Amino acid sequence: MKLQSMQCNNCGATLEVPESTRFLTCNYCNSKLSVHREGSASYTEVLEKIEQRTEKIDENLEIIKLQHELERLDREWESGKRQYMVKDDKDYKMPDEIIGKPNKIVSVIAGVVFLAIFSIVALTIFGGMRSMNAPFLVTLVPLGMIVFVILAVVSSAFSTSNRLGKFQSAKTQYDVEREQVLRKIRNLDS
Ligand SMILES: [Zn+2]
Repeated sequence: MKLQSMQCNNCGATLEVPESTRFLTCNYCNSKLSVHREGSASYTEVLEKIEQRTEKIDENLEIIKLQHELERLDREWESGKRQYMVKDDKDYKMPDEIIGKPNKIVSVIAGVVFLAIFSIVALTIFGGMRSMNAPFLVTLVPLGMIVFVILAVVSSAFSTSNRLGKFQSAKTQYDVEREQVLRKIRNLDS
């Protein structure tokens, strides 16, 4: 069986075609081709209905591309979200896993109770110093400690809520981008 070299009229690939063949499918782009032979010249023609097929292939390629895009988004989110993790008990967790958890509420209550007890003790020391006529600047020390503890508690609460806000806006952005890609895939798929 003698083979003839021919070019796919769709993608330009060189195809080895048996001399008697009238129709074939391109190995490279899957186009259905009809073979024309006119004297010594021979060429292939993309069949009409194959145009749609090619379109379908393009669509499938687009879907694959979008799926890769989706995987990339998921991967980036999985590694990027670590920076928003907060320490909970022994391990790090995502902020939204912790919000509303009973032990988080308990730790907030514990913090408030600690602050109250600390204040009472410091104020008692302050009162004792006053009654012993301690120098005025020394009596300020327990008061300063109360202010210090309050600032520490507030700044820790602020940094947690700040981190939470950043996490939430990053999560929203990820969700929106993901939904956009999913919508494109659904449109192509239908
Ligand atoms: Zn081809």
